[in-house]
Amino acid sequence: MTTEAPDTLSDTVRLHTQDGVVVLTIDNPPVNGLGNTVRAGLFRGLEYAIAEPQVRAVVIAGAGSMFCGGADIRQFNTPAAAELPLSRDVQALIRHANKPVVAAIHGAALGGGLELALACHFRVASAQASLGLPEVQLGLVPGGGGTQRLPRLIGARAALEMIVQGRPVDAAKACALGLVDAVAQGQLLAFATAFALEQAAAEGSLPDLHGRMPALDEVDFAAVRAGLDPRARNHKAQKAAVDCVEMACQHELAHGLDLECEVFLKLVAGPESHALRHLFFAERQAPKFEARIPADTPAIASVAVLGAGTMGGGIAMAFANAGLPVTLVERDQAALDRGLSLVRRNYGVTVEKGKLSPAEVEARLARIRSSLRLEDVAEADLVIEAVFEDMAVKQELFGRLDTLCKPGAILASNTSRLDIDRIASATGRPEDVIGLHFFSPANVMRLLEVVRGERTSDAVIARCMAMAQAIGKIPVLVGVCEGFVGNRMLTGYWREAWFMLEEGARPEQIDAAMKRFGMAMGPLAMADLAGLDINWATRQRLLATWPPGLRYPRVADRICEAGRLGQKTGAGYYRYDNGSRLPQPDPQAMAIIEAAGAEAGFTRRAFTDEEIVERCVLALVNEGARILDDGIARRASDIDVVYVHGYGFPAWRGGPMHYAGTLGLEAVLARLRALEAAHGAQWTPAPLIQRLVADGQAGF
Ligand code: NAD
Repeated sequence: MTTEAPDTLSDTVRLHTQDGVVVLTIDNPPVNGLGNTVRAGLFRGLEYAIAEPQVRAVVIAGAGSMFCGGADIRQFNTPAAAELPLSRDVQALIRHANKPVVAAIHGAALGGGLELALACHFRVASAQASLGLPEVQLGLVPGGGGTQRLPRLIGARAALEMIVQGRPVDAAKACALGLVDAVAQGQLLAFATAFALEQAAAEGSLPDLHGRMPALDEVDFAAVRAGLDPRARNHKAQKAAVDCVEMACQHELAHGLDLECEVFLKLVAGPESHALRHLFFAERQAPKFEARIPADTPAIASVAVLGAGTMGGGIAMAFANAGLPVTLVERDQAALDRGLSLVRRNYGVTVEKGKLSPAEVEARLARIRSSLRLEDVAEADLVIEAVFEDMAVKQELFGRLDTLCKPGAILASNTSRLDIDRIASATGRPEDVIGLHFFSPANVMRLLEVVRGERTSDAVIARCMAMAQAIGKIPVLVGVCEGFVGNRMLTGYWREAWFMLEEGARPEQIDAAMKRFGMAMGPLAMADLAGLDINWATRQRLLATWPPGLRYPRVADRICEAGRLGQKTGAGYYRYDNGSRLPQPDPQAMAIIEAAGAEAGFTRRAFTDEEIVERCVLALVNEGARILDDGIARRASDIDVVYVHGYGFPAWRGGPMHYAGTLGLEAVLARLRALEAAHGAQWTPAPLIQRLVADGQAGF
């Protein structure tokens, strides 16, 4: 009996028959995600192909640029994820098919996409394909059989490497591992169809992983667990992934699949995976900026950096690393030599670590041209100023750039806190002036605050957002205010650390509590690293407009007045012996802290970790809410990206604004009110938080 091929399988899966082979094509842009309609389409197509005697084999392929990018992450924790058929129903149908089912992989087969391919009898791939199970990056384990089938196919050791690191392999490696059966010669679909017909004609039964059990003794699982980094953003998921692969070596496949599913469901409902998925979307949304760039605008092809200090050298490296020529300009030879030798030293470390070859370093260094003449920036498409943090110096320089630079050049400042509009006013082309706030070390840190001035043109913003992504940064668009997003929030965070010092906490106690919360560094060790003088100068600048009645952190001034400016002077909140970077508790610092506390009228008292964390983190949240209200950040998730990528906030907590949502804004507001009653006006709840709570919103 011949059944009619269904006209449509679903909106997202197409069927056509060729030489007796049914080809099911997933067409669900942008990444052919395995959402509910894709699962339903594949199920119907497979049912038809299995029932139809004329059909000899099935090929599953992807339309567009890839095979399948995995489960539809947006459907996690939604009713659509539970809609039938589930991935495991599709997989069971393939297993019991009486004809070969072949996955034809081009582009990427990731996560659920690779799990679908693993459930097929065979896999063929184009030479450029990449295959991986990146679920751990989202705080998950593969939940559709990946941890159970992959070890059965390629062995436990190789599977662990792919699953725990979440890194994909290319087609050649996949073939060597036995993950794909053949790499396509010529056109993939024709190759896959011929391959499927060959398998249909072959004697013997179809491969079935249910009969296989990977060797348990191939891997020392305890050693793998012990080798995981407990500070990794996805530590919990990595540990669970090791457990799952071990289970694959201990249980029948059917039972292993159930166990894996349990682990997945627990992780997907947990706060860490929620936070990591939030960040995944936040990082992709932050760079988006829709603006029409005039058609004749050239791409940024050359860059000039002014100042070869801490920041300038790193910024020059960031562009040279991305293949762009850079002119690095200093005001005198000694400073230039110092800057260039630091650049060379940084590259040297990369070579020592085996991350770059000496030849590649030479190629990168050759892209950095140094100069003492400002006139040499005249032809650059983008000029980034990274000289001293001083308005008069910057204005004078921008005035000169205005006369020197070619029309259409972007004039950017790397200022940490100064007013971009005042800098722009020194030029006759404020529409071309923008802030590009890199983070230290600029060649490593991925965050870039793109500061839009009042008159910066949309086209200049769009070009900078695109440029940032082209050099591997995550750009976040922010507005002009004291400290933009990141440093403005840092002010409140440090303020609370200083106040707690005055009230009775010790530096190492505050830092340890914040590290236990998950921060990469404690606030006071971070202040010592950054240098205390910059902040001291900022406080002095702000003192003239300090609101009456608002508490002032005198301990921060007293430490600086003692000549303790952080690591660079060997002492700050800690001491640093003989150039060491390791903070040591220092009785001399404690004496200054205690005197400043007494001067402020405090009798020292004990602090708990909870109180320290609450005061530091809620200070971030409250200021973040004001920043949102002021329109300085476009969205709460942008603030999270800034804090995770620029300030070491734990990714598995999703950033301060996401974290506030996990506490619940009503609870946050209640705590802010209590802190205001106990400590004063710096804790007045942000109006946005009050409005959101009144509207019944739990998060930002
Ligand atoms: P730095 O003191 O290390 O370097 C500044 C360099 O600029 C010096 O080498 C100096 O010789 C040079 N310079 C001064 N005037 C010049 C001129 N007219 N032409 C050419 N070169 C000139 O300072 P830095 O830490 O690199 O900071 C530079 C800028 O970046 C500041 O605006 C700072 O606020 C900002 N920033 C610093 C950091 C950080 O962590 N250090 C982070 C982000 C932004």
